[in-house]
Amino acid sequence: MREIVTIKDLWKVYRMGQEKVTALAGVDLSINKGEICCLFGPSGSGKSTLLNMIAGLEKPSKGQVHIGKAPIHQLKEKDVTLFRQKHIGFIFQSYNLIPTLTALENVAMPLIFKGIPASKRNKMAAKMLRQVGLGDRLFHKPNEMSGGQQQRVSIARAFVGAPKIIFADEPTGNLDTKTTIIILDLMYKMVKENDQTLIVVSHDTEIKPYSDRIIHLRDGKIEAVETMLREGEQLCEAIEE
Ligand code: ADP
Ligand code: MG
Repeated sequence: MREIVTIKDLWKVYRMGQEKVTALAGVDLSINKGEICCLFGPSGSGKSTLLNMIAGLEKPSKGQVHIGKAPIHQLKEKDVTLFRQKHIGFIFQSYNLIPTLTALENVAMPLIFKGIPASKRNKMAAKMLRQVGLGDRLFHKPNEMSGGQQQRVSIARAFVGAPKIIFADEPTGNLDTKTTIIILDLMYKMVKENDQTLIVVSHDTEIKPYSDRIIHLRDGKIEAVETMLREGEQLCEAIEE
């Protein structure tokens, strides 16, 4: 498989007055196109920092991040914003929907930056909302929907522009177990159907069966890498043995 993200010796040190907090301490990692890669670890282990660094939301103290050929670590703010609008989708723990806008308007939003005309934007957003099972909630505002529904809107928003990579930071952190499974099933299905890459942060073991690879982080370092075999692959290995 071809690499889509390449991370080399990545460091992030925050300065808090006199004190230094080392959030990332030399991370090397490659993520393949089409992979579901989970950044897993306890609170404070550097998961969000790593995700934000890959997405160009924060600049590393040292090291390199490439998405394809784009050197994310050295792009100017303006260029990294354009890159994100074009190639990246985001799903957050707290959904981050715009409260004054309807589900349809929230989902259509990223298409504005792609220069797609309004009527087409609305058609694409409605189609995506139907795909996530919210065809009957197009005109609801976020506070008129449950947490699970709001997260489905935010999934629709992340996928509507068919980005190459989706980033999700604790996407089911605010949801109950049953809704968590619904959301993870949905994300898995969308990513695999469209051959997209998903980088998902979690500290919840429910994510494991959905992941191709689990990167265990501790104290800003990769502690272990767990490659998950799918049923089909296990079968092939059994035959080859
Ligand atoms: P996780 O997402 O795994 O819970 P984070 O990446 O948010 O962990 O944080 C890693 C470490 O960096 C923690 O010790 C946290 O307190 C620290 N940290 C994160 N963001 C900042 C910041 N903006 N300023 C100072 N310290 C930070
Ligand atoms: Mg975090």
